[in-house]
Amino acid sequence: MTYTPPTAPRRTSDERRAEILAAPGFGNHFTDYMAHQRWTVGEGWSSGEVLPYGPLNIEPASAVLHYAQEIFEGLKAFRHADGSVWTFRPDMNALRFQRSAERLALPPLSTEDFIASLEAVVQADEPWVPGGGEKSLYLRPFMFANENFLGVRASHTVDFYTIASPAGDYFPRGVQPLTVWISPDYARAGRGGTGFAKCGGNYASSLEGKNSAVGQGADEVMFLDSETHTFIDELSGMNVFVLHSDGRLVTPQLTGSILPGVTRDSILELAPDHGLTPVEERIDIHRLAEDIASGEVLEMFAAGTAAVINPIGKLASEQGEWTIGDGGSGETTMALRRILTDLQYGRIADDRGWMHRL
Ligand code: PMP
Repeated sequence: MTYTPPTAPRRTSDERRAEILAAPGFGNHFTDYMAHQRWTVGEGWSSGEVLPYGPLNIEPASAVLHYAQEIFEGLKAFRHADGSVWTFRPDMNALRFQRSAERLALPPLSTEDFIASLEAVVQADEPWVPGGGEKSLYLRPFMFANENFLGVRASHTVDFYTIASPAGDYFPRGVQPLTVWISPDYARAGRGGTGFAKCGGNYASSLEGKNSAVGQGADEVMFLDSETHTFIDELSGMNVFVLHSDGRLVTPQLTGSILPGVTRDSILELAPDHGLTPVEERIDIHRLAEDIASGEVLEMFAAGTAAVINPIGKLASEQGEWTIGDGGSGETTMALRRILTDLQYGRIADDRGWMHRL
């Protein structure tokens, strides 16, 4: 599929763009263009167009505003030392987007069209890809029901856009050990629900849990399984890993209520190269607390595209507090972070063919 390139001029001056790229934060600023395709029942997907970034004209009766039939993805474009621009495993995001679409009764978008939208935006917005440091251009493909109809059924008109936002650190404090609050009452997803899909509704239902975690002085919330409230699911926007003293690197198995993270999958695959034994299993929160207290757990970290790998220094709940190791940034955690970022920024060889040039 080919995209029609933009005809409209940039909305951002070179000076303003340079100012934004010097300190982008996360999710605050948006580029000059966006990619778009529309799907209609019977006709399928339209060809792609690159439009100026700007407000969408949506009617109040648009289905997405009522029934939340919406999915999204998140991945980054990295500038390498030679000036070239790359994404990390975009085929995995495309596949997850297809699975999310199926669960939300939205039309699947081919991997080819998904990647074409990334290429179209990055080509149009090339000056927005930061160079140097650990900055990147965060890409946000999303798809939503856009039929003006209030009956409860899958929409007959669907829009797909990719927007882009320059990114620095995800957490305002940078890469610092997080305090994670174990939610005593809220769950993020249940059996048969949408936990494995990247749909807006999952995030809406996680916000109150995150608010109460922040109210307890924590940085993040940890959700437990909805049925027994015993096993770790994940954080509001990241998967969780636990490093044991015997070299096991454990993450909750994919039960259907956890988002299958691209970062999670990459860490599991890279772990054996670094003397670690990757394990996917259910993690009992009571057992984990005992293992932290006894010193059997050495490190914990959160993993996701936005924050890459971020150490977890402390767990807290209504029952007490557990400091992991010395509460600092674990050595293995930071080494794994370094390996992933070195790969993404082209500082080490990409033996697995994970990088895709845009
Ligand atoms: N869990 C949730 C709920 C998330 O939102 C994310 C971010 N996409 C992740 C895990 C990590 O996934 P990934 O590594 O693909 O970014």
